[in-house]
Amino acid sequence: DIVRKPIIAGNWKMNKTLAEAEEFVQAVKNNIPANDVVDAVVGAPNIFTQKLVEWTEGTDLKVAAQNSYFEDEGAFTGETSPKALADLGTDYVIIGHSERRDIFGETDEEVNKKAHAVFNHKMLPIICVGESLDQREAGETNEWVSGQVKAALEGLTAEQVKELVLAYEPIWAIGTGKTATSEQANDTIKVIRETVQELYDEETAEAVRIQYGGSVKPDNIAELLDQSDIDGALVGGASLEADSFLKLLEAAD
Ligand code: PEP
Repeated sequence: DIVRKPIIAGNWKMNKTLAEAEEFVQAVKNNIPANDVVDAVVGAPNIFTQKLVEWTEGTDLKVAAQNSYFEDEGAFTGETSPKALADLGTDYVIIGHSERRDIFGETDEEVNKKAHAVFNHKMLPIICVGESLDQREAGETNEWVSGQVKAALEGLTAEQVKELVLAYEPIWAIGTGKTATSEQANDTIKVIRETVQELYDEETAEAVRIQYGGSVKPDNIAELLDQSDIDGALVGGASLEADSFLKLLEAAD
């Protein structure tokens, strides 16, 4: 059996000043579990990426950007170049977060192009998928999420898929305090793993890490991580405070 190393990633969204970001990193960076046990990632606003990389140098804390464009350079005012992110030393890029899709109109096709761009620059994407409450209530969850996965992975090799991270984030559970039950989360994550198996093979499906995201807190993470197919968490609100982030990591240790 393949043992998938858990990966806990914080997504600060558009929060914190530079001073607050530094305070967090100083409190956390030397207190995280070793990275052969769990991967610890902080997704700070992109304007702080360079500083995060500097501050975490020589530690096991990894740095994620929250978005990247798919072109390397050119007339794309306000966008962030994946080439520049990689040059700064960024490890991961969160791609296709539901807020990017819903508020900024990001499409499946763009998510796929971004995933390719991130790999082209030797970073790893954390690709988010998830259904709305209407879709869940209409019984469309599996079909929807599986379609998002297929679109996002289009053209990626099995080797790349084994390296990347998928995040299942039911939109109705994000920032709402409503967590999917651990069984609900695990069931949908199994569907995602089956989709990867259909697209690639069993080895790839067994290797790919799939996180759950949606109101994960220190007091519910253990139960989620206990599930057969949940390999970590993508965490918004509870990743903002150093104490809380460290508790999430301890739960995965
Ligand atoms: C997220 O931003 O990906 C998320 C899951 O947020 P929260 O943990 O606050 O629900």
